[in-house]
Amino acid sequence: MQTYTIRKDEIPKLVEALKEEYEVFGPMPKRTSYVFAPVTDPTKMNLDYDSTIMSPKKYYLPSSQTLMEVSLKNATIEDTVKDILDQKPKILFGVHSCDINGINFLNRVFDGKYDDPYFQAYKEITTVIGLNCLEPCKYGFCRAVNKNFVLDGYDLFLTEISDTHYYVHVGSPRGDRILTIAHEFFKEAKEEDGAAFTAALHKKHENLPVALHIDNIHETLDLAWDDAIWDELGEKCMNCGSCALVCPTCYCFDVQDEVDLSISKAERVRKWDTCLFYDFALVAGNHNFREDPPARLKYRFYHKFRGAIHDQGEIACTGCGRCIDACPAGISIKDVLFRLQEYWAASPTPQGGL
Ligand code: SF4
Ligand code: SF4
Repeated sequence: MQTYTIRKDEIPKLVEALKEEYEVFGPMPKRTSYVFAPVTDPTKMNLDYDSTIMSPKKYYLPSSQTLMEVSLKNATIEDTVKDILDQKPKILFGVHSCDINGINFLNRVFDGKYDDPYFQAYKEITTVIGLNCLEPCKYGFCRAVNKNFVLDGYDLFLTEISDTHYYVHVGSPRGDRILTIAHEFFKEAKEEDGAAFTAALHKKHENLPVALHIDNIHETLDLAWDDAIWDELGEKCMNCGSCALVCPTCYCFDVQDEVDLSISKAERVRKWDTCLFYDFALVAGNHNFREDPPARLKYRFYHKFRGAIHDQGEIACTGCGRCIDACPAGISIKDVLFRLQEYWAASPTPQGGL
């Protein structure tokens, strides 16, 4: 496979060139953190960012999205898939491996188990330029869940190989398209660039912490069904839902029909929802399948690390650490997993599971 290099100081010019054909989003500073946002000034995009407040999930599954517009006056119904496809193509610039894995997970949901034309339309118009993490971020534990690398889901992928250059892998024809329209910025990689890339991967291997591998977490959760930890955490959890909202793999939504006061038009809207909210499992007759906070928190863990393996073939966590940063109650998914795994791995008498 042909690989390339690009000078770091050429990135702003590359972004400017790409903006003629694409709407470019990337990690932009926001107060003390970063957000994926339109790159209005390419010199402000910071590829040395550690993490962003929200994941790039919002570009595939917006927090509030009109699915269908209904004109009651003209008796017409129009879905919004074409509106998405008519948008200017997007580039997500500088997406870390954890977040590319998050998009790949959503793909297993919305273009796998389910056939969601809205997600698929966003996928159709979006190009992903990935960025290797060579240093750990504050809360992440991607390596513990094997999400610190990507095999697919990117169009171009950058790895820092020196203070001045990135090494560039091409992952798709969409990546080739960028090389074609902005060829002046990319140089064919030489043998020494390949050696620098290998050295960068070694550095990454040394730098990213792996206190514990949680490959067999589903078995641990089988054993831990009645563990006291769920009540303990449930007491602390405020069911605010922040953990799910910032998460790159949480995909649950609610669908509401909103009728205009004039009663001449209506919209079907889907909005992010989460199993942490009281009314998520509330059904007719005022019955709630998960009435108590511990049951809701426990459900989130079991869906992510047990149910998702059945449904999507892998856990629904990329170890990005955002939920740890966002939780006002100080609940750390990493600490919970590590604690459970250490305890049950050491337990001489398993008490649950099949
Ligand atoms: S559960 Fe937490 S650490 Fe895992 S992907 Fe979601 S936000 Fe990131
Ligand atoms: S962010 Fe923390 S307090 Fe809020 S719902 Fe999630 S675990 Fe509970």
